[in-house]
Amino acid sequence: MYIDIRHISKAFNGQSALNDINFGVQEGKLTALLGPSGCGKTTLLRVLAGLETAGSGQVAIAGRIVDDIKPQERGIGFVFQNYALFRYLNVYDNVAFGLKTKHWPAAKIKTRVQELLDLTGLTDLAQRYPDQLSGGQKQRVAFVRAIAPNPKVLFLDEPFAALDSQIRQELRIWLKNLIHQVGITSIFVTHDHEEAIETADEIVVMNQGQIQQVGTPLEIYYQPQNEFVANFIGHSSLLKNPDLNGYDLPSTACQVQIRPEHVHIHKLSKKVTSFGQSATVTAVQFKGLTTNVALDVQGQKLLAYWDAGATPLGIGEQVQITIERLVVFQNNQSQILKAQ
Ligand code: ATP
Repeated sequence: MYIDIRHISKAFNGQSALNDINFGVQEGKLTALLGPSGCGKTTLLRVLAGLETAGSGQVAIAGRIVDDIKPQERGIGFVFQNYALFRYLNVYDNVAFGLKTKHWPAAKIKTRVQELLDLTGLTDLAQRYPDQLSGGQKQRVAFVRAIAPNPKVLFLDEPFAALDSQIRQELRIWLKNLIHQVGITSIFVTHDHEEAIETADEIVVMNQGQIQQVGTPLEIYYQPQNEFVANFIGHSSLLKNPDLNGYDLPSTACQVQIRPEHVHIHKLSKKVTSFGQSATVTAVQFKGLTTNVALDVQGQKLLAYWDAGATPLGIGEQVQITIERLVVFQNNQSQILKAQ
């Protein structure tokens, strides 16, 4: 592993903030640290960067244990959520800044800065000052400035948080492409599950200072290992001990996760009477592309989608549903089941 994190624990005033954190990041990959506010994401990133000291454990970057190495000597590029550009330097000089402090020869600095500005489509902005840039442009410059000195790894703390949603979306794709093009091993912190799923090669889900699951976006989405991950990632319903047609579910205490896209609603008609599972429509919300529907199934709430162009569903309407796939959680084990 290019970044190797072993048994990292950290407490503040006797309160545990990180509890035995273990994971690795492969070379050239982009990993998201994802979790709710206060789960320890920023503390972990600061420990990796050397801005915070771990209580115990070990961090290796590019095969070198860095625990006793100062932040500026760890070979790290860092991007903050608020850009942190130098106001009195133009884009070109902002990107060149780190290279000058590392005493690169002038000709090499010029080549490197121009190469990066060309690669990232920022050449036309080279003479502008931060005040003359949009938020998205500032953050692009901040990314480029961070990777200019060829750091071994790039750490990004909520790098999209200050941007509005359309720019954020554009920038995620831009950043992912840039990171893969440059081949720099990166970790970014986010509390936004959609952002992690869209942007990362791998996601580390955290809660209360502990890792809940490490996996690709597809694994985290479709094979959640516990109820926390199931609840935190994407939209789904968690039902307690439901009795569902087509499934042999445990009779003892269990939780069942069902994603709305796996629920199919059938309006009652002469043809459709009772082949599935009975449900009652309790809420309908038009969302444009689709319609979100809340259903009552045996007194529990189940979310589903309905084709926005189809005959509308009414509140209180009785329907039949079929469930394509679900995940059962019982005794700290998870199991994926598909309709029989
Ligand atoms: P957010 O998304 O809100 O930034 P986070 O997941 O990044 O949250 P951290 O900032 O890492 O969470 O905080 C983890 C825990 O450690 C929290 O309970 C926080 O209050 C505590 N903590 C963080 N820094 C300090 C500090 N310097 N002194 C005391 N407690 C701290």
